Amino acid sequence: MSTKNTATQVKKRSAGIRVKLVIALVAFTVLVLLAIWILQIRLLSYFYEREKFSELEETYLDICTYIGDKNFTDQLQKTAEENGICIRVFTIIDGMAKAVGDGNAGVNCMVHHLSSSLLEDLYVNAKMNNGVYDKRMEFNTDFVTGDAENFYLPGLLQPADTVNAICARLIEKDGAEYFILLDCELTPVSATVKTLQVQFLWTAFFLLCGAILFAFILSRIIATPLSAITEKARRLAVGNYTADFEGRGYREIAELAETLNFAAREIGATDNLQKELIANISHDLRTPLTMIKGYSEIMRDLPGENNAENAQIIIDETTRLSELVSDLLDLSKLQAGTKKPEPEVFDLSALTQDTMRRYDTLIRHNGYRILFETQGEAQVQADRGMILQVIYNLINNAVNYTGESLRVRVSIVLGEDSVRLSVADDGEGISPDKIDHIWDRYYRVDKVHNRAVIGTGLGLSIVKGILEAHGALYGVESAVGVGSVFWFELPLVK
Ligand code: ADP
Repeated sequence: MSTKNTATQVKKRSAGIRVKLVIALVAFTVLVLLAIWILQIRLLSYFYEREKFSELEETYLDICTYIGDKNFTDQLQKTAEENGICIRVFTIIDGMAKAVGDGNAGVNCMVHHLSSSLLEDLYVNAKMNNGVYDKRMEFNTDFVTGDAENFYLPGLLQPADTVNAICARLIEKDGAEYFILLDCELTPVSATVKTLQVQFLWTAFFLLCGAILFAFILSRIIATPLSAITEKARRLAVGNYTADFEGRGYREIAELAETLNFAAREIGATDNLQKELIANISHDLRTPLTMIKGYSEIMRDLPGENNAENAQIIIDETTRLSELVSDLLDLSKLQAGTKKPEPEVFDLSALTQDTMRRYDTLIRHNGYRILFETQGEAQVQADRGMILQVIYNLINNAVNYTGESLRVRVSIVLGEDSVRLSVADDGEGISPDKIDHIWDRYYRVDKVHNRAVIGTGLGLSIVKGILEAHGALYGVESAVGVGSVFWFELPLVK
């Protein structure tokens, strides 16, 4: 499936940042507006009314303390003025209510203009509710339909707007029964709520428009670098490893760009290494094959050349070929995970000593010195064949890179729980910027393919694969111009 198709599918599957941001911001704004609507508008009148009724209740309790006193009518007027309310007090004698006092704060008052039927209604309700009755009285519904001709309109308010809180209370004091009416206006809050409602609608409209606009701008700012990155990632997918991802503005996008740049560099490097490897392998395969073919033909055609020396060349080249092929095979098995260690207990010192024998000819003919130091028997539990391959690869590298001293030192040091095998050479060493890469597949410090130095760039990655499969510690210390020490550690079997 092409990248383009996949991208189109993604587009179809989920909405883009832009749509999601708009939805999220609009949803958030609606929620905030809803909360404001409920708290500020719907509940405002409710809280205000509750507050007013409890104020009336407190005033009533205050009145209770002095009702029936000699000059309580004066006090009623004072209380009314102090609290900005209206008060009426009746005594009930033989089923008749007689007005005995009142207070008027000069506000839009209802209790002073109630018809006798409404007064009776309030009294009956209070009587039925243990002397306590609260009523929210609206001019247009409660009042007019009651007994309209029995009141007049004192205030400036439109009659239809007037809403009052009325508290009707019954109390007995000093053998007398009192019917007390307290009245305060609720209308201002209703008017405020209406203003707020209009304001709210405008605010909601502007806020929603603002949220949509803001979401669009924000999504544009976020989506633009992402789209640019996606575009470059598409180019990367079709093999353009030079893509330079940019992610300015946001830390997350910058990190994504950085990661993609890193990935692009790594993929590019691996791609180059693979190309190099193919070139190297074809070269390495072709050269011995050419030699084998050439020498075989010489030996067939020229009887004088049919000697042991030429036969040895053919054998050497065949060995080189088979080593290359088995290296490739080993690495692919290690990578695929099909080659697993089969541990057995063996003596690492003895194994190393055996391996050294392979180098006898090298020592004898080419003047190499391969020194071996050990502190004695070192029993370890590991895959013998694999560890042999590790030692062999490390010594091979040391021989290949040791330089003019022709000296390689192999040592085995016993620790408390582990044994360390080191292979040191006096070669030119590895520079710090290259040292981390030498374990990578196909990596060779010297890019110029030099047949004098045998190698495919696979040896150390095989070493790494084997040692990691064993969970062993390994590493290298190297100084340019001084030499390198490659080492690994295995747990000792006691
Ligand atoms: P090669 O087959 O090329 O030796 P390796 O994987 O064994 O591949 O090594 C990778 C690279 O690491 C080598 O090409 C070489 O540049 C560097 N290297 C390995 N061992 C040594 C060493 N003992 N001294 C210096 N460089 C080394």
